[in-house]
Amino acid sequence: MTASDQPRPHSPGDAFVPKYRLPDWYLDHATPPADPAPVAWHSVDNPAIDFAARCRMCAAAEVVPVTIRSHQGLLVWMRGQSLDGPWCRRCGTSFIRKYSTRTLCLGWWNPLSLLVGAPAALVANAAAYRQLRRLPPPVPLPGHPQPDLGRPVLQRPPAYVALIPLACCIALIAALVSRI
Ligand SMILES: [Zn+2]
Repeated sequence: MTASDQPRPHSPGDAFVPKYRLPDWYLDHATPPADPAPVAWHSVDNPAIDFAARCRMCAAAEVVPVTIRSHQGLLVWMRGQSLDGPWCRRCGTSFIRKYSTRTLCLGWWNPLSLLVGAPAALVANAAAYRQLRRLPPPVPLPGHPQPDLGRPVLQRPPAYVALIPLACCIALIAALVSRI
């Protein structure tokens, strides 16, 4: 056996030359390569997550598509605000408490607000809260903080400003009735 017949270890310059070629019938029917590495489930940038169907604040999956409203009225000026969902239980409750308290404080100082605007916003928020209460506790995605839940509406002093127009209405009705 001569030196040229001896098997040689591969050197970096060696180009790989396949000894066999895959047959055409195999190449035609071979299964395509698998998708690239799957994205981790906890990844914030997971493109598989449909954020439009998740909580707008914390991206939790357990949501309902409710709208949260507030109303403000002063003499001849009125303003309504709304936050379209979907919302999870915690984020929705937090905003309902905030918006309802603002309505109870600032929503009465215009005749149309007193009769229509503020009651409509409060009724809508109460209906939204009933739907949110049926949801399980949300699990936010990493990197999406949830707002502070805050105190219930009746534990917030500004909400009791609503007693002023309520007392005025009762006094007005009592005055009208007393003339009958
Ligand atoms: Zn949320």
